[in-house]
Amino acid sequence: MTDELELRLDSLAGVGPVTTRKLNDAGIQNIMDLIVRGPVEIAELTGMDIDSSSKICEKAREDLVKGGLIAKDFISASELYKKRQTIGMITTGTDALDTLFAGGIETQALTEVYGEFGCGKTQFCHTMCVQVQKPKAEGGLEGGVLYMDSENTFRPERIKSMAEGYGLDPKEVLSKIHVGRAYNSDQQMLMVDKALELATKHPIKLLGIDSLTSAFRAEFLGRGTLAERQQKIRAHMRDLDKFMEGTNAATVVTNQVHSNPQAMFGDPTKPVGGHIVGHTSKFRIYLRKGKAGTRVCRLKDSPHLPESEAVISILEEGIRD
Ligand code: ATP
Ligand code: MG
Repeated sequence: MTDELELRLDSLAGVGPVTTRKLNDAGIQNIMDLIVRGPVEIAELTGMDIDSSSKICEKAREDLVKGGLIAKDFISASELYKKRQTIGMITTGTDALDTLFAGGIETQALTEVYGEFGCGKTQFCHTMCVQVQKPKAEGGLEGGVLYMDSENTFRPERIKSMAEGYGLDPKEVLSKIHVGRAYNSDQQMLMVDKALELATKHPIKLLGIDSLTSAFRAEFLGRGTLAERQQKIRAHMRDLDKFMEGTNAATVVTNQVHSNPQAMFGDPTKPVGGHIVGHTSKFRIYLRKGKAGTRVCRLKDSPHLPESEAVISILEEGIRD
């Protein structure tokens, strides 16, 4: 999916220059953008009425279906199978984690890493930024990275050390990671739209978000606004879903934990956002500190893999067995 997605708005029958300009001014660049946002958002963004925006979106959908760029409402299982055949896998650089993930993290899917501070979530994201760039023969996808940093913890120095650890050219690796600072949740949400646009133009194979929830959490403190916060996170997850639908990139997000006071048995540590985040995550990894500086990774609620654990270490040159 590259140039095809840059289908120009003015190629849509019935959309004149005035409407095209209105859409462009609202940041809608191509036909795929129309589909991804849908009539309600288009109406909100452009000020046009919902009837007009629905008509335009429907026309856009028809054109893309005709062009074979998006699926019809129902697609055959064999078509779905074909799409799933394009799923790529990025190895993690350690045998233990690759075994846990049954090969590595997948494109067209979201991997969530959660755990307490200092457990290695950010280190895992940095590692994947390097891993994805490795040659295919070595378990990478030779792809670039979009990295959304909401905690100001992205460190190019770490990337450099890790790249050197794998014998990759650090300069080249750094040049393929595009970092954006998200200062608040609204900005973070807007960045996903931007990411979708960028991923149609550059060979992006990984979207990293560190952290997924901290901005939302900081802005919606206290229980009174919990419902509102969850609603916003839900919208963010929906946008990420669209991102994954529209690109063949992997998404890795980090998440904080809170302690569930109602838990009577077992570990009371729960990821922020609860089921709203968990629903979109294909892989949920719970990281915690283990003995002698090690980290224990536990695979939680995967749709097709058993719960299991792996032990890793964080070294200067990255995550290792
Ligand atoms: P937070 O919730 O605060 O963001 P986190 O889960 O993102 O925490 P990380 O920053 O990924 O945690 O991990 C920090 C840990 O990683 C450090 O405590 C240290 O053990 C390890 N670490 C970081 N840098 C290096 C390095 N250069 N060499 C070895 N270990 C390192
Ligand atoms: Mg961190």
